[in-house]
Amino acid sequence: MTYRAATIASVGAAARTEEYAAPELEPGAALLHTLFAEVCGTDVHLRDGRLAGVPYPLIPGHVAVGVIAAHRGVLRDIHGQAFNDGDVVTFLDVHETCNNCYECLVTKQTTRCPHRKVYGITYGAHDGLLGGWSEAIWMKPGVKLLRMPQGVEPAAFIGGGCGLVTAVHAMDRAEIKLGQSVVVLGAGPVGQSIVALSSLSGAGDVIAIGGPQNRLSFAQRMGATATIGLEMPPAERAAIVRERTRGRGADVVIEASGAPDAVSQALDLVRDGGRVVVCGQYTDRGATSINPHLQINKKHVEIRGCWGSDYSHFYRALELVARFGSKVPWRELAVKHYPLDEANDALDAVASQEVIKAIITPNL
Ligand SMILES: [Zn+2]
Ligand SMILES: [Zn+2]
Repeated sequence: MTYRAATIASVGAAARTEEYAAPELEPGAALLHTLFAEVCGTDVHLRDGRLAGVPYPLIPGHVAVGVIAAHRGVLRDIHGQAFNDGDVVTFLDVHETCNNCYECLVTKQTTRCPHRKVYGITYGAHDGLLGGWSEAIWMKPGVKLLRMPQGVEPAAFIGGGCGLVTAVHAMDRAEIKLGQSVVVLGAGPVGQSIVALSSLSGAGDVIAIGGPQNRLSFAQRMGATATIGLEMPPAERAAIVRERTRGRGADVVIEASGAPDAVSQALDLVRDGGRVVVCGQYTDRGATSINPHLQINKKHVEIRGCWGSDYSHFYRALELVARFGSKVPWRELAVKHYPLDEANDALDAVASQEVIKAIITPNL
């Protein structure tokens, strides 16, 4: 028995469909038949070699939804309910968080555990079918499966996908209070979900800054009260934000753009004593210039990073789609579906911003 999977052989190589042997399921393992796997900006960075520690050849696709096709032993969810073949599930793409290191046990920031492995990113094709761009995904023992809650359409969850999960973590870091003003820098999948979750959190003004225009229009559907395009110079954008906040700047600014300079802009857009959350700099795109006196110290601002996701972010992302999936158009974030053989077209569509998000459908 073999399965087909889109594989990136080395940095810069086009994805090619390869055949892989089905894994031997050890006790506690399962095999998913993939329904949807996402293509996000990280996958473009993986093709271009902008992430350190990636073992090529690689089967990309870190967030996916599938049907349990086989399993060995009894696998239970966190409520104690057993999984059965035929259940529709997603899974925490992070595996082998050790619960035995300084980060896990002392500082309790498990997303910084040095032992964690990520499906589709730091597991390579030589490790097995451990990426979502594949007809089947091997759930190694210990991988945390999450059942699709009642009423959650898999297509809606994958539309939110890793952007939504990342946004849940960023919202935890942002700690937005009712009625506060929020600026979101970046209108990609992460920024879109941050706009939606800010609105659901009872923010006042939610201003999305980014581009191109189709993304800004979508941000309005996600709940943005105003949008500003990148064709406008940064000083003019800042003037609009000040005008909308009585000259003070926003209470909270969340950077989800990936451009290093956006962090400096975030510091200009936040009010004195406000908070800046940086979650868009997932790959190293270089340095930026900041005036520490004017932009940080004198402004008395708080800056928080945000790295990776844990189980709680996945779990709560599913709860959010269950409750708000009919109101927030997550499903429409990813309207373009691609078969395995067209994985390169999917990457190009994401890289060129032709689509906000692309989806690989290996079994359609
Ligand atoms: Zn992603
Ligand atoms: Zn650890």
